[in-house]
Amino acid sequence: MTMTKAELLKLVRAKCLDCGADSPKEVDLCPVTGCSLYTVRFGKDPTKRVLSPEKAAALGERLRKARTKKNPTPTAEEKPNRLTLTSR
Ligand code: SF4
Repeated sequence: MTMTKAELLKLVRAKCLDCGADSPKEVDLCPVTGCSLYTVRFGKDPTKRVLSPEKAAALGERLRKARTKKNPTPTAEEKPNRLTLTSR
């Protein structure tokens, strides 16, 4: 059986809630830092980047510019005239 990362994290969260008497606060305050599930006890990927809105906007703008540079939108003169192509 193959399991996705999200499914696995969900299982870890359920295990940690079970360990913490079904209390999210107990899981939050878990003192067992040596437990192999400790870093993923919230059911979230700890390696996933969390960006501030400003940083996310800056990265989005950089990506938009890179895409435009790689695949520029044709100007009005460069676009084929649909009326002349479809008319008979
Ligand atoms: S990290 Fe380990 S000890 Fe802490 S709640 Fe999860 S399973 Fe229990």
